[in-house]
Amino acid sequence: MMKEVDFNKVVRQHLETEGFFTGFAVRGRGDAPGTCGMEADSQPASPGHIGADSAPKPRPAPQAGLGPAEAQRELDAIAAEARQCCRCSLGSGRKNAVPGEGNPRARIMFIGEAPGADEDAQGRPFVGRAGQLLNKIIEACGLKREDVFIGNILKCRPPENRDPRPDEIISCLPYLQRQIEIINPEVIVALGGHAAKTLLNTVKSVGQLRGQFHEYYAGIGRPPIKLMATFHPAYLLRSYTPDNRRRVWEDMKRVLTELGLPVPDRGRG
Ligand code: URA
Repeated sequence: MMKEVDFNKVVRQHLETEGFFTGFAVRGRGDAPGTCGMEADSQPASPGHIGADSAPKPRPAPQAGLGPAEAQRELDAIAAEARQCCRCSLGSGRKNAVPGEGNPRARIMFIGEAPGADEDAQGRPFVGRAGQLLNKIIEACGLKREDVFIGNILKCRPPENRDPRPDEIISCLPYLQRQIEIINPEVIVALGGHAAKTLLNTVKSVGQLRGQFHEYYAGIGRPPIKLMATFHPAYLLRSYTPDNRRRVWEDMKRVLTELGLPVPDRGRG
């Protein structure tokens, strides 16, 4: 019988053998077809960021205490790289890369799986139906979208919204790792199984992971970041039961309590 492939193990082993990505620049692989390297809606990246040679360029690890302007500049540079990225085949099929957006000093980062059709069309994360539900969850917490940072494991849409493949995660994860390093949030909310499993390097399901804090390690010498896994809004839309809504709200209440923020007595809808 064929042994089942443990995708998380494949991804993690690759990351470990490639070296510790945190603190290294992501560089383009060169001349893939399609929109790779030049997107209709995007500005070209500065020449220092993208090159045909694929050796990662060491970067000084961003300081945890970056000011908002400096953090925004770093995030803009990552976004510019992602918009030009040709590291995997998804680059040739995208309309727009979706690097992520939000407060450069956010206390909470929401991390989803990958852009869908609406996100690919607009170049912004969580703007479709799942995004509207995420907005409601954020508002139920007494927060605004601009207060948090919203990103994804993959920056480009997989065809037909299929699951991310290990090679795509391996290519793309360094962008998110650097975003996390720069923003240095107090809590990461992993939306759905793909985000939770990738960030925690586990095969456990989101159902098993949710309901308690886990630790995400952003780099050597840096304290771990609390991570709460919860159901993806798209799953919630498909399975909009009172029980699932209550579970997500319970997870968010734990996040608010952890941050010392008031817990509104609404948010069940
Ligand atoms: N689903 C995701 O995981 N991310 C998005 O940006 C949109 C939908």
